[in-house]
Amino acid sequence: MPEVIVTAVPAFTDNYIWVLSTGGAECAVVDPGDAEPVFSALRRDGLELACILLTHHHADHIGGVARLVDAYGAPVFGPHDPRIPGQTRSLHEGERVEVPLLGLEFEVIEVPGHTSTHIAFHGHGCLFCGDTLFSVGCGRLFEGTPEQMQASLDKLAALPPDTRVFCAHEYTLANCDFALEVEPSNAALRRRASAVEAARVAGRSTVPSELGEELAVNPFLRSREPSVVRAARRRNPLAQPGASTLAEIRAWKDAF
Ligand SMILES: [Zn+2]
Repeated sequence: MPEVIVTAVPAFTDNYIWVLSTGGAECAVVDPGDAEPVFSALRRDGLELACILLTHHHADHIGGVARLVDAYGAPVFGPHDPRIPGQTRSLHEGERVEVPLLGLEFEVIEVPGHTSTHIAFHGHGCLFCGDTLFSVGCGRLFEGTPEQMQASLDKLAALPPDTRVFCAHEYTLANCDFALEVEPSNAALRRRASAVEAARVAGRSTVPSELGEELAVNPFLRSREPSVVRAARRRNPLAQPGASTLAEIRAWKDAF
């Protein structure tokens, strides 16, 4: 199995477009919401685009696809969703997607919640999860129920703990502020929050994170932990471990 090299291409104010390569001249790109920064990065690194992978239909994830396809003729793999035009192949739960010319292969995981057709790509020790799981947070529930998001996060939580989590936004600092409201005495979270603050002051990215650490600090992966359930019950005394706690803390974060 080739080792994957992942490079961040910042886009808009806080998006990350991920460029995947294996040391050769070809690369794949995940969620190119804007074509221009991808063109610049590929020119800089002397890379040709071999494939486009998409996690969901939002414009800040697919907005650059048409121009990249025009320029490179790369195939487009993403979820089955008519809101994503120009796809070469639609992907479903459990399918394996081979990235042409790179020798990389990813497992497709359906993770509805943020959108109804959101997928994630897992392979080579990496998870590309779009707007489903963020570092110390999760995506807003635009099209899914808390139960769906809970089931989606449970699938991701079951991956190996050393999985590197490549989410699509630099939201970690604000997510830490919120998570500390939920779990002020979580020592691992306090350490993570300090490290994140230092990284952002120094202008460094906080992504990727490691799944094992997310399990210790991310309140949305911890909806069955007594401390998180207790925090949810301050808002709704009927909150139970799991989806109803997730629902409470998601609604809390939406207004935070
Ligand atoms: Zn989104």
